[in-house]
Amino acid sequence: MTTTVKDTQRVIDEYSKYVLNTYTRTPLVVTKAKGSRVWDVEGKEYLDLFPGWGVSALGYNHPWVMNALRGQAGRVAHVPNNFYQPGQWRAAKAIIERSFPGKVFFGNSGAEAVEAGIKFARYIAPGRPEIIVTEQSFHGRTMGALSATGQDKPQQGFEPLVPDFKRVPLNDIEAVKKAITPKTCALLVEPIQGEGGVNVATKKWLEAVRALCDQHNMALIFDEIQTGFGRTGTWFGYQQSGVVPDMMLLAKALGGGFPVGAIVVSDAIATKIGPGTHGSTYGGNPLACASIVAVVEAIEKEKLLDRVKLLSDYVFRRLAKIQAKCPIITEVRGCGLMIGIQLNCSGQEIVNNVRAQGLLLNCTQGSVLRLLPAMTITKKQLSHGLTVLEKALMHYADGMQGEK
Ligand SMILES: *Cc1c(COP(=O)(O)O)cnc(C)c1O
Repeated sequence: MTTTVKDTQRVIDEYSKYVLNTYTRTPLVVTKAKGSRVWDVEGKEYLDLFPGWGVSALGYNHPWVMNALRGQAGRVAHVPNNFYQPGQWRAAKAIIERSFPGKVFFGNSGAEAVEAGIKFARYIAPGRPEIIVTEQSFHGRTMGALSATGQDKPQQGFEPLVPDFKRVPLNDIEAVKKAITPKTCALLVEPIQGEGGVNVATKKWLEAVRALCDQHNMALIFDEIQTGFGRTGTWFGYQQSGVVPDMMLLAKALGGGFPVGAIVVSDAIATKIGPGTHGSTYGGNPLACASIVAVVEAIEKEKLLDRVKLLSDYVFRRLAKIQAKCPIITEVRGCGLMIGIQLNCSGQEIVNNVRAQGLLLNCTQGSVLRLLPAMTITKKQLSHGLTVLEKALMHYADGMQGEK
């Protein structure tokens, strides 16, 4: 069967009839995906350096995860949280054993993990509702998570926001000191801002923030929804700096494609939280938990954390070489396989250009090309992707030169 541009248009037309128009979508109809490869309805193959916004960190349809899901689907798909099931403690144990002593609450998405973080932070500090967040941060689209987000644009039209979030610039310790009041209960930050443009929180700043939180009895909350679960070459982004949070939010890569979210809270916080404080009907359902355990097993069996380090060295070395000869690149930032290429011009045209050549990546904040390649990507695929990107960047830079 051959398919054509018409099939793409047909799907787009049906979407416009029935699906609410909340997303800016690329005209790409995905019918199949495996590893770092994606096929569209027209049969065209793509190399995806941004699989699922970080969700498919093991690549699309990792066989170990898919098998675990199939197996669990044959037993029971949902067990309510007023009962016990064998899977949930296993998933929680798998996370705790790789992070810090504490307990896990499961939800179904990143935003739900953020909401839990906000609620727990306030609950354990009665009368102290203020939470410090960073400019340019992104924490999700529900009212609490949206209010915590350090960007005006996604908030516009949804006022009044949840009150008492205070923004400070990332890596500015004096601003944090100034923002703390007797009513501050927590500081929430991504170890590396994702949507905000791959902005890395420095070790020095994180250490100073940790000290301030201890001094003022505030909870330090890391949003590791994008940096977590292997992305940076360690299980969690905080392990790069050694600064341990009191609460950590997870989603995206955690489920290997299955919708999951989780919050890890320290033992000290866990003792203050009892039945009735929080809940989620689907949270930690057997399928979600099976996927989490399978993701952990796959990362360990395939030694993917070591692989991230190897691939990361390669990517950053190549990007440094490209930057040296490409005048539109002003900085290359990130850690592990979380990579931001800062341009001095708009990046969307480059994203569109390489997509036509079968390469998928993302542009955030208008001028930052963002790559979140799967940990299972082959060096050959990565090399090919970078070659296509390099050509497009050089071509674009030449064009800009010509205009001057
Ligand atoms: C994606 C993301 C979220 C929101 O996750 P959803 O699953 O879309 O609700 C929150 N924080 C960070 C850092 C993210 O990258």
